[in-house]
Amino acid sequence: MNAPLNPIVLARLDKADPSRNPARLREIPYNYTSFSDREIVMRVLGQEGWELVSELRGERKTGRSARMLYEVLGDIWAVSRNPYLQDDLLDNPKRRRQLIQALHHRLGEIDRRRDQEASEASSDANAVLGISRDQKVARLLTLARQAVTRFDASFDETGKLRRQVRRILGRITAADNIKFDGLSRVSHVTDATDWRVEYPFVVLTPDTEQEMAALVKGCIEAGLTIIPRGGGTGYTGGAVPLTARSAVINTEKLETLGPVEVGPLPGVDGQVATIFSGAGVVTRRVSDAADAAGLVFAVDPTSADASCIGGNIAMNAGGKKAVLWGTAIDNLAWWRMVDPQGDWLEVTRIGHGLGKIHDAEFAECELAW
Ligand SMILES: Cc1cc2nc3c(=O)[nH]c(=O)nc-3n(C[C@H](O)[C@H](O)[C@H](O)COP(=O)(O)OP(=O)(O)OC[C@H]3O[C@@H](n4cnc5c(N)ncnc54)[C@H](O)[C@@H]3O)c2cc1C
Repeated sequence: MNAPLNPIVLARLDKADPSRNPARLREIPYNYTSFSDREIVMRVLGQEGWELVSELRGERKTGRSARMLYEVLGDIWAVSRNPYLQDDLLDNPKRRRQLIQALHHRLGEIDRRRDQEASEASSDANAVLGISRDQKVARLLTLARQAVTRFDASFDETGKLRRQVRRILGRITAADNIKFDGLSRVSHVTDATDWRVEYPFVVLTPDTEQEMAALVKGCIEAGLTIIPRGGGTGYTGGAVPLTARSAVINTEKLETLGPVEVGPLPGVDGQVATIFSGAGVVTRRVSDAADAAGLVFAVDPTSADASCIGGNIAMNAGGKKAVLWGTAIDNLAWWRMVDPQGDWLEVTRIGHGLGKIHDAEFAECELAW
């Protein structure tokens, strides 16, 4: 929850009149995440909610009502950041109903106290300045009730969309490759940045490359944002879901790796060594294959034991050998990919320079759909 307060600060706290004590840095309970109170209030209640909370907090009169509101926010937040709790509540409608009732009950208590305060107060100093304190609390309660209603509705929406995704994608890939479970979603929430924004809605782990085009089309049909993922070692957050309606396509099973072959390339004099690799092959395996053939694989990021060839290409990864032989895209002779519309695209490079690409060479590709 909240970080323990320093003993010196604790000793200075006014126990007789807690309202005289400085506000804690984080007042929303059950928040074990890196999100601040501000971020949580903004996400659950919106910008207006945060402004109202800040204004009321500044008045230091809110005490018990504020704590109850923070508990409501804390409950919503804890569940929305914990896929295991979400699954539990999806599986137990009764428990879910009890939680929603408890949230509404707390908001009802705040409302009751607000009524009481309003009838006791003969005049409200804030009313002179504009919107009264009572009106602010009332508006905050409206926003909080809407948030609880949205939270409640999100379970039915999730259940419905899961069924739809299973129906659409179940025709394309094995049922086990469509993963909604907590562990799969937790393991695909971030990459090496450790930046966390949203959990993916679903994680897909296709068995073959052939499934990929139809999977992309299926995700588009289901309204999901697609995020391909290799080893998850990226340092730019490219594999981090930014929307709760996203599908991470994990390519780890696409690990076809051919032998090192020596032969001609279009527009290149002489024989060139190449290797065919699936998107999910771990970079180290390609380096080892090149080594075994007495060659060097130029793409050598320090993450080679965990990164994948697809991720290397998407990030144009390189390492210390890049100075001599360029980075990932400089070392591609041919590739096949699915475009964002879900169509296959094949690209063959003509007149490979066998080194760092220079601008003039870039145009020399043959595209085939
Ligand atoms: C310890 C460490 C050392 C590193 N050292 C280097 C280094 O020396 N040089 C260097 O360049 N980088 C380095 N990196 C960064 C990272 O390893 C590389 O960018 C690597 O290429 C990412 O590969 P990945 O498979 O892990 O990709 P991911 O992290 O899974 O994905 C990275 C991006 O590529 C996209 N992507 C992944 N697979 C596909 C696919 N099949 N089709 C389309 N898009 C895809 C993702 O959507 C995402 O946007 C390092 C990272 C770490 C953690």
